[in-house]
Amino acid sequence: MSSRETAFDVVVVGAGTAGANAAYQLADRGLSVALVDKRELSKSGAQWFNAILEWQFERAGVESPVPPESSPRVPRSHMISPSGAVVMQITNPPTLSTDMAALGDRLRSNATDRGVRTFDSATGLTPVLDGDRLIAIEFGESERVRLTAPLFVDASGLRGVLRKASPPLRRWCPDISGDELCTASDFHFRIADQTGAQEFLARNGATAGDTVSMLGLSGGFSTCGITVSADLTWVGVLVGCLANGSYGTGPSMLAGVRDREPWIGEVIHGGSGLIPLRRPYPRFTAPGLALVGDAACQVFPAHGSGIGLGLIAGRILADTVTGPRSSSHGDIGDERLLWEYQHRFMTEFGGLLASYESVRRMSTKLGSDGVSALLESGVMNESLTRAGLDQRLSTPDLKDLPIMAGRLARRPSLAIKVLPMLARSRAAAFLGGSHPRELDLDALDRWDRKLTRVLGPLPG
Ligand SMILES: Cc1cc2nc3c(=O)[nH]c(=O)nc-3n(C[C@H](O)[C@H](O)[C@H](O)COP(=O)(O)OP(=O)(O)OC[C@H]3O[C@@H](n4cnc5c(N)ncnc54)[C@H](O)[C@@H]3O)c2cc1C
Repeated sequence: MSSRETAFDVVVVGAGTAGANAAYQLADRGLSVALVDKRELSKSGAQWFNAILEWQFERAGVESPVPPESSPRVPRSHMISPSGAVVMQITNPPTLSTDMAALGDRLRSNATDRGVRTFDSATGLTPVLDGDRLIAIEFGESERVRLTAPLFVDASGLRGVLRKASPPLRRWCPDISGDELCTASDFHFRIADQTGAQEFLARNGATAGDTVSMLGLSGGFSTCGITVSADLTWVGVLVGCLANGSYGTGPSMLAGVRDREPWIGEVIHGGSGLIPLRRPYPRFTAPGLALVGDAACQVFPAHGSGIGLGLIAGRILADTVTGPRSSSHGDIGDERLLWEYQHRFMTEFGGLLASYESVRRMSTKLGSDGVSALLESGVMNESLTRAGLDQRLSTPDLKDLPIMAGRLARRPSLAIKVLPMLARSRAAAFLGGSHPRELDLDALDRWDRKLTRVLGPLPG
């Protein structure tokens, strides 16, 4: 079998949103970059509609989506508790529903415009190591292509194809169990019966253009969001629950929605997948290797949103390896330089993500009945919900505290579950951002153990 070898400054594996933006950001700063995916480029990454946040695009150095890449803004989101009560209405929610195929194409075009060389349909990828350090990848069936670089970026999603091959990361990046994975489906359908759609909206106090979000139907951590288009021609359905086998799957939840709502017609497009729901791995860099996106678990754990954080990671990585400290290392794959990328990401987002991991655990522990009680008690109010949607730390207004305390005092069985988790969430917010500054695996281990203790046992 013949083979050809090409050398780059950086090889990025995975041309989804995280990989495409990392490739663009690195090339934009003058590095020679290869972007590799096992699929055709137009089919790389998410292929459904995702909710994104404009502040995250700005932070990532990427233009925010505009129509037709994004859908018209949803004027209102109606939160429904598991018992069917409408508990809250969020006006102008901060999320923007975006066509991921179109966004992915734009990000990959940004990259190729900056000279990134793409390799798609790259099947049979094999990492090549020299001791602990990744030095090349090989792929291809009839002809093997070999790419070498001082820095590899694993953007291959949950699969983590380079992460799994890296001996230094094995200990820090364990496989994720179903208790920390979300099984999700997101589809757009035609509306077969507009009267049925209007009846559904009226039942939930909504009008065309709104989202109806049913929370906690399939276990405490679960969602079913139904967005009916303003012109009553299509409906978007997003469903997700914990993937430990106790609550069904994204596709089974979707089938349930279609049974209950016969006005939903044929599929336009969509997809299903698994999303990591844990805070980022404590270590997501190794000699010659940095992880971005789902491969590093850079996902908002309370609802499994990974687009924005994956994009931001690419920018932080590019800023770090081309920043002032890079020349003193002389090697852009130097472990200490990559540690700085990891440290910068964790200083900015580690507290937020650890804190919301605690919130996600709380929802699982509460179960459907507990989520009903929490939502109907008013303790989970609009400002806390909006902060969660906007992926920001939520601090209840001082004026709301006595009201919330009064509501919890009247529901001791709820308070007993919620108060310890709120305390854990606060402590995790504080501790999660204090990731060790310098490369020191003992300090990393101590920090990770402390955070694991603060978060407590994993509810299943
Ligand atoms: C149904 C659903 C709904 C979601 N909704 C939202 C949402 O509303 N908002 C949000 O922010 N997030 C959402 N997410 C999560 C979001 O889609 C992911 O966090 C995001 O797509 C991760 O991007 P990524 O680039 O890290 O990985 P991916 O999108 O998984 O891309 C990884 C790429 O790596 C390639 N690859 C894998 N293995 C190899 C290999 N061996 N060799 C070469 N290439 C390889 C794959 O082909 C793929 O193109 C949702 C997820 C699902 C499943």
